[in-house]
Amino acid sequence: MNDEIRIPVSLPLDSDGFLRRECPTCEREFKWFSHEEGDADAEVVDQYFCPLCGVASSTDSWWTPAQLEYMNGVSGPAIDQYMQDSIEDMFKGVKGMKFKSNKSFTFGIETPDALVEPDDMMIAESPCHPHEPVKVPDETTKVHCLVCGSAFAI
Ligand SMILES: [Zn+2]
Ligand SMILES: [Zn+2]
Repeated sequence: MNDEIRIPVSLPLDSDGFLRRECPTCEREFKWFSHEEGDADAEVVDQYFCPLCGVASSTDSWWTPAQLEYMNGVSGPAIDQYMQDSIEDMFKGVKGMKFKSNKSFTFGIETPDALVEPDDMMIAESPCHPHEPVKVPDETTKVHCLVCGSAFAI
């Protein structure tokens, strides 16, 4: 029972296919384009540069507080189900024993409301990596390329 539980959580994209992100350095929000899995245009990198402050961080450090909270929330029912299945498996095949599962079993983690992604911010395409556009707040005048960090004016 030491298996790692992996729970796929899908986060909403806006209507242009952008995902909201928060920079761990300047704590400002922007969006990056979410490529389909296996998209040949997607850059394979191990870090991204913040479009707003230009500081790089590893690819998995850009969650917004709302996304983290949401992911914690949605994993609750999945963990309940996992425990339920594991207990059922343990009792399966035990002679003379019948396990009746308790469908109301729960750790009591509440499922959060689905996240909603509004269509805000404006698209900025870097001249050096045009396949990795970002969305930045409307008042932004200088943007750093997500992939290589070079600055360009918009
Ligand atoms: Zn930043
Ligand atoms: Zn670039």
